[in-house]
Amino acid sequence: MGFLKDAFFSISSEPAVARLWSRSMTNSVAVFTLHRLESNGGGSNTVGLDTLDQILTKLAQHRIVVDSLYRTITDINSHPDNIRPRVVFTVDDGYTCFADAADVFESHGFSATLFATTDFVSADDWMWWDKIEYILKNRTKDKVCIEHGENARLISFGADESLNNTARQFLEEYLKTVSSRERQSVIEQCAEQAGVVLPDSAPPEYRALNWSQLKGLHERGFEIAPHTVSHPILLNEDSQNSERQIVESYRVMQKHFTPTPVFAYPNGTEIDFGTREMNTVRDLGLAAAVSTSPGYISSAMLTTGSDSLFSLPRFYCPNNVQRAVAIATGLRKYIGMAA
Ligand SMILES: [Zn+2]
Repeated sequence: MGFLKDAFFSISSEPAVARLWSRSMTNSVAVFTLHRLESNGGGSNTVGLDTLDQILTKLAQHRIVVDSLYRTITDINSHPDNIRPRVVFTVDDGYTCFADAADVFESHGFSATLFATTDFVSADDWMWWDKIEYILKNRTKDKVCIEHGENARLISFGADESLNNTARQFLEEYLKTVSSRERQSVIEQCAEQAGVVLPDSAPPEYRALNWSQLKGLHERGFEIAPHTVSHPILLNEDSQNSERQIVESYRVMQKHFTPTPVFAYPNGTEIDFGTREMNTVRDLGLAAAVSTSPGYISSAMLTTGSDSLFSLPRFYCPNNVQRAVAIATGLRKYIGMAA
């Protein structure tokens, strides 16, 4: 089936075919989420800068409007009759690579929205999944035993890549189900047993942009918006911390520049946030919030007062030009294929 799918995406991303399809997209917006952008693409959750450049070139050929999130929402609300197919690019977390991506967006005359985690930007902490990768790369021992619910679980690393991937996948999935306090304790156990001393601040490859870099990007017209203080799964936190994570990340940003009044839930699937978080975002006076549940956004969902405004869907941006264009032009809606 794979080659048929690829052939379909290849044909359908031709400008004439995609224009035909995009007529049916005039009443909806596709929002992409990206995390890391690297010159040579590659890793999971990573899109190549060249691939991004080619995706933007194709979208421009299809005359699709590419813009940032808040401007798209306000534009659609203030000009409901000016209906054109639109695509929004959002980038989560705040890694330094966003500076390179910003140059690519700008070279096409486009903007984007960056959701940044404030402790990460302040260099007070670094991302927990990067710590796992660091432990794996720098370990001197191959076995760690972690507390797993009421039991203990032995995790084995080794020379075999698939063994390491399985171990890493288990750790990442397990750590998404616990509170940030428990997660920190498990990561410390792992590091100690694997013979790794975790640096207090992120090694260069795992760093975030700093506040003055974010301010510079804000002045260039990029939307910079909050993505919590320390990136916990909000639904796993108590009410007090869930609220603090949302409110404080916005307040901290306000000390540096005027943040864009939109928010992205960490991890962002339907089990990662709920009505409690949506209400906090609304009560804070923000205009909208995004999840990572895939789907298109209709103009009705963007109407002021709509509940949907606080759980807007997003598609993961594939590291593949044809697949990204197929999503952007609305083909995925009709053929039901995963990105
Ligand atoms: Zn994130």
